[in-house]
Amino acid sequence: MTTRRQFIMTIVPAAAAFGAVTGVQAQAAKVDEKDPAAVGLGYKHDATKVDAKKYPQYKAGNTCGNCQFYQGKDAWGVCPLLGGKQVAAKGWCSAYVKKAG
Ligand code: SF4
Repeated sequence: MTTRRQFIMTIVPAAAAFGAVTGVQAQAAKVDEKDPAAVGLGYKHDATKVDAKKYPQYKAGNTCGNCQFYQGKDAWGVCPLLGGKQVAAKGWCSAYVKKAG
């Protein structure tokens, strides 16, 4: 039989672990431009350094900060397309999708 005490002892560590996981995500490593996933998508920390000949879809003003996949409001935010690592708000990659609204 599960007592209330046993139930709490089970739930609390699970909640603590969940907090740790979300904490890790908030402090995710910054992606390296040489990371294979970053290279594959032509990611640059500075959107103005994007190879416009190779990526003609790039338009000035398009940056991670206004991309649909960008998770964050600061200078760096998590991008699920680059392994959940942090990308620069001023960066850009070829998977860019303008944020709606
Ligand atoms: Fe930046 Fe969007 Fe590319 Fe992610 S998908 S790296 S947020 S442009």
